[in-house]
Parts: sequence; structure tokens; C-alpha cells
Amino acid sequence: NGGVHDAKNLRVKLVLLGDSGVGKSCIVLRFVRGQFDPTSKVTVGASFLSQTIALQDSTTVKFEIWDTAGQERYAALAPLYYRGAAVAVVVYDITSPESFTKAQYWVKELQKHGSPDIVMALVGNKADLQEKREVLVQDGIDYAEKNGMFFIETSAKTADNINQLFEKFVASLSMPSY
Ligand code: GDP
Ligand code: MG
Repeated sequence: NGGVHDAKNLRVKLVLLGDSGVGKSCIVLRFVRGQFDPTSKVTVGASFLSQTIALQDSTTVKFEIWDTAGQERYAALAPLYYRGAAVAVVVYDITSPESFTKAQYWVKELQKHGSPDIVMALVGNKADLQEKREVLVQDGIDYAEKNGMFFIETSAKTADNINQLFEKFVASLSMPSY
């Protein structure tokens, strides 16, 4: 019929979880605005941003991004944000073993209480700080593999692998066939 395809507009609810200070808000800001602000404010509660990716076949994927605060006092609110999320990004800081431990807590939490078909990524951020690295790449890879997650190391500062992180999700979404 002339090869005309209908545009499909997909919406994906995405939640970011992880210790305070690992760079969740900077990852979102880098992805949505292409910026890095070293003086950015600590997230209180949670914040919402969206970003749409256009694919070659005129499909669009709109990420509805819930960026949560990592502080203990907000932990009880987390289910409000990850409930119904199709995608979860669990972030740690490669210079902080404590944040890697905390990431594992969030993964277990999502496995227990998130949607059963949630797609998860484990993200080791601040990959630009190689000289201060305290979490081995292999430890991230192994943990992600055991838990059926994507794994990627990113730097919100240099933009390294930020788009690739979100592209991994696009590839994993079941695309409608025409
Ligand atoms: P959040 O609490 O997880 O949202 O963390 P933020 O996004 O607020 O970042 C916490 C601190 O880490 C800020 O001072 C950022 O400038 C810094 N930061 C975030 N991402 C990176 C990164 O990729 N590399 C470096 N070197 N610093 C980063
Ligand atoms: Mg934040």
C-alpha cells in the first residue's frame, strides 16, 4: 500500500534508584538536556522529566523518567515511583563500594515488589574517575548477569555511554511489527 507506515508512539515509565550522590540526577540531566552541572542540587523526594527518542521507522519512544532521592528518609516512598515502571535504572558510583552494596538492595527490592516483567539496568556511574575506582567492572558485570540485568558504566560528566544506556532499553522493548 505504498509502504506507508503508521507512526507508533510508545511510552515507557522509567525509575532511577540508588544511593544519594551516585549521579542519578546528572545522568537524567545529561540525557534530557545534554548538560552536566557540577553544582546541581540534591533531589528532594523525586523529580519528573521526560525525553522522547525518535526511531528510524517513525516510532517514537517517550521516556517518563522518575528520578528519586536516595536518602533513607525517602526510602518508604520509593514504591510510589517504581510501581508500574517498565524500566528501572539502578545506579552506583564506581568509587564507592557502599553505593554498590546499596544498589544490590534496590535490585532485591525491585525483584520483590516491582512489576514481574520490569527491565532493569545496573549502572556504574562516574566512570571518568578511573584513578579512584573501588568497584571492579567485573563485579558489576557478574552481579548484573546473575540478576538478569543490563550492565553499563557511564559518566554523566563526560557523557560517556549515557545515550547507549537508554538505547539498550529501546532495543529491549517489544517493537510492534508492521
Ligand atoms: P544523585 O543524588 O544520585 O542524584 O547524584 P547527583 O546527580 O546529584 O550527583 C552527585 C554528585 O556527583 C554531584 O556533585 C555531581 O557533580 C557528581 N557527579 C555526577 N555524575 C558524575 C560523573 O559521571 N562523574 C563525576 N566525576 N562526577 C559526577
Ligand atoms: Mg538526585
